Amino acid sequence: MSFADFHRRSIEQPEAFWAEQAQLIDWQQPFEQVCDYSRPPFVHWFAGGKTNLCHNAVDRHLKDRGDQNALIWVSTEVDKEIVYSFSELHAEVQRMAAMLLALGVGKGDRVLIYMPMIAEACFAMLACARIGAIHSVVFGGFASVSLASRIDNATPKLIVSADAGSRGGKSVPYKGLLDEAIQLAQHKPAKVLMVDRGLAPFTPVAGRDEDYAALRRQHMDTEVPCAWVDATHPSYTLYTSGTTGVPKGVQRDTGGYAVALAASMKHIFLGNPGETYFSTSDIGWVVGHSYIIYGPLIAGMATIMYEGLPIRPDAGVWWSLVEKYKVTSMFSAPTAVRVLKKQDPAYLKKYDLSSLRALFLAGEPLDEPTAKWIAEALGRPIIDNYWQTETGWPILSLCNGIEPAPSKFGSPGKAVYGYDVKLLNESTGEPVQGADEKGVVMIEGPLPPGCMQTVWQDDARFVKTYWTEAKGRWLYSTFDWGIRDKDGYYFILGRTDDVINVAGHRLGTREIEESISSHPNVAEVAVVGVADQLKGQVAMAFVIAKDASALGDSAARLKLEGDIMKVVDGQLGAVARPSRVHFVTALPKTRSGKLLRRALQAVAEGRDPGDLTTIEDPTALQQVKDLVAAR
Ligand code: AMP
Repeated sequence: MSFADFHRRSIEQPEAFWAEQAQLIDWQQPFEQVCDYSRPPFVHWFAGGKTNLCHNAVDRHLKDRGDQNALIWVSTEVDKEIVYSFSELHAEVQRMAAMLLALGVGKGDRVLIYMPMIAEACFAMLACARIGAIHSVVFGGFASVSLASRIDNATPKLIVSADAGSRGGKSVPYKGLLDEAIQLAQHKPAKVLMVDRGLAPFTPVAGRDEDYAALRRQHMDTEVPCAWVDATHPSYTLYTSGTTGVPKGVQRDTGGYAVALAASMKHIFLGNPGETYFSTSDIGWVVGHSYIIYGPLIAGMATIMYEGLPIRPDAGVWWSLVEKYKVTSMFSAPTAVRVLKKQDPAYLKKYDLSSLRALFLAGEPLDEPTAKWIAEALGRPIIDNYWQTETGWPILSLCNGIEPAPSKFGSPGKAVYGYDVKLLNESTGEPVQGADEKGVVMIEGPLPPGCMQTVWQDDARFVKTYWTEAKGRWLYSTFDWGIRDKDGYYFILGRTDDVINVAGHRLGTREIEESISSHPNVAEVAVVGVADQLKGQVAMAFVIAKDASALGDSAARLKLEGDIMKVVDGQLGAVARPSRVHFVTALPKTRSGKLLRRALQAVAEGRDPGDLTTIEDPTALQQVKDLVAAR
């Protein structure tokens, strides 16, 4: 079947299409209805069906491939490599599940996972899925204030954490941040399960903290059967940033997600059972959920979970893993490739990469020089794919598993099956007609299986944030600008909202502003994303100080800049730290007091700010211009 026919069928006959795809996973009880869209924009996929994500990722493979590799954990931080077969993974997940049950976690309870890239994080996710608990993984790079707001929103019964992560050979303590976050949060989890790696000493909180190793010894042989849950049962929440300062808990179902991932492994990621998949992301992001843990394992593949940097001990480390484990599909981000591009290209020639079918890249725009460099260096297809935390799997890509298609530089490809993508003209609100016309990338409801069900505990916010309705048709906004060429290839032009993308990490400028505002000498602040050669974008802050005398000389300015950065590091994490904090005496605003964010961003990038007829004080932009020129 041609891809065009495959896609058409998915949109015109979604029930028949997805009923077929649903055969890729195991069901304990067959579904009664493929798609219930009676209450748009909410959709229930596979209603009446019962299944379990952990069963599909682990148990169902025991019969045919129990002894084959399932989880390959590699840490160049602590110089360790442990390979778990499906049987061994099954045993570890059961032990973890037994611990969760013993600590009072039941079906529907939330478990927050704040962990570095260690195998126990994978066990914890699968163990939650096994017993029907809802996990919420918080990226280990987030600090106490970010963590506290997620604890309050998810209200977990239990938190699973570790003493420390490690970066560049130095331990990065987690426990202190966690204790601080729990102190800050209104909600207090009853228990904390601590994996002690021996990297950073800590004092357990009596009555609350439990030792993983000790509990594990008590449950070496405990069997915990999979809890069969409704297809619509939430499997996890994952927080992501938007326009407002409060991150949204993206809620995912179980059955639709399993089907979507199984189908994507086949049609997009070219994965077959018994092969090895290597995604270089982190479990704290959606790519980690879908394509380190669930997708590859559901497909019966081994998955590599890597703790470390791409250039340590040297820039060949990832390729050495490709050779050693005969990786067939690899998934990374453009920033990582740009980091490698700065290293000696000889590293790419040192290893046998013949097993690799393709390198998939996502998370941020893939610029042409980077794409060309890696395509040439690897000699393998580079497949860009575009999606979001909200969708859980690609919206745009090439579906080479259906029909091989050429890539176009700068384009993540065509609309994937299941997605009815429209480009909406911002001023008319109508779909754009011609090729190469700019519009907001929208998806006509129902969203396909695997996408977000709702915002955790906030249906109203889900509808208000993402959806518009016109003449009975519901459209989901991605908040990205895009164009489509005459061949149906899309090009993503950037966000329509205040979200920025730093090295593939999505950050809300409002969150960073709120954090900076808490510094006692900050009167006003604006944060914008500024183009950066390595990271795609970096956050840049413009601050009006309360007490200008603190800015006397350049040393004083530098000190205040450093102090403000420390505030962000401590509250949100280094991931959100602005690259620069500039001091100004005015911010560009309209006469009604609205910040002219796009103008500020344009000037910070050295571009023309466009129409400024509504600006209150033109000198505000001049200051920014001068600062940028002085850089
Ligand atoms: P996240 O939810 O963290 O995965 O971030 C999603 C956002 O990242 C999207 O809305 C886009 O702005 C951006 N993004 C993701 N993948 C791509 C891509 N392949 N090309 C361009 N932008 C991308």
